[in-house]
Amino acid sequence: MSDDKQLRMIIMGPPGAGKGTQAPAIQKKFNAAHLSTGDMLRAAVAAKTSYGVEAKKLMDAGELVPDEIVVGLIEENLKTNPLCQNGFILDGFPRNCAQAEKLDAMLKAMDKPLNSVIELVVDDKLLVDRICGRLIHPASGRSYHKVFNPPKVPMTDDITGEPLIQRSDDNEEALKKRLVAFHEQTAPVSNYYKKQGIWYGVDAAQSPEAVWDSINAIFNKTL
Ligand code: AMP
Repeated sequence: MSDDKQLRMIIMGPPGAGKGTQAPAIQKKFNAAHLSTGDMLRAAVAAKTSYGVEAKKLMDAGELVPDEIVVGLIEENLKTNPLCQNGFILDGFPRNCAQAEKLDAMLKAMDKPLNSVIELVVDDKLLVDRICGRLIHPASGRSYHKVFNPPKVPMTDDITGEPLIQRSDDNEEALKKRLVAFHEQTAPVSNYYKKQGIWYGVDAAQSPEAVWDSINAIFNKTL
């Protein structure tokens, strides 16, 4: 794959917008690295690392963890994950303009500028039902929904047969805080990339299939 055709993108949008459905499909299409700071932090929490313990309190409260932690995680993965040779999808990062600036500097030094920032745009009132019924398979990041997309066997991953979990921050109270954090801190990130001319909005109130088609139309333009 020539470098200018290499996927180097950010997927963004509020919790429940559909990033967890679309990002694995993009990952599969390009065999690129799917770098989700939320997944990395949950792995650190499960492994009880020192920063995992600190991060858990903030995550459960729906607040952001310190920039140094997430910037460090992304930098390490961009440098060491072998799939990054095929490209990368950043998911859940950057969450604020300071993170976006640090990312730009990092990618400039690696001569790997971003080619698209895709934002799944959806009204907050659709998100409560989507989030509060969400079930996750931690190892793969596959997500289900108790009503809209139930697994074949209750609380069990269709592919591995392993148990599903409900994220401890997938409740109405934490969601409200996560949405406030999203609008206050992440929305300016959209403007940051709009100014660079690489931001694309997708209507995420559509069906997952229609969202997928819209995303592919953007790839046809940008790669
Ligand atoms: P997510 O899985 O992307 O919804 O992230 C879950 C939680 O992890 C967030 O509510 C934050 O507490 C934390 N988190 C994930 N990514 C970041 C980031 N880029 N900056 C700060 N905190 C983050």
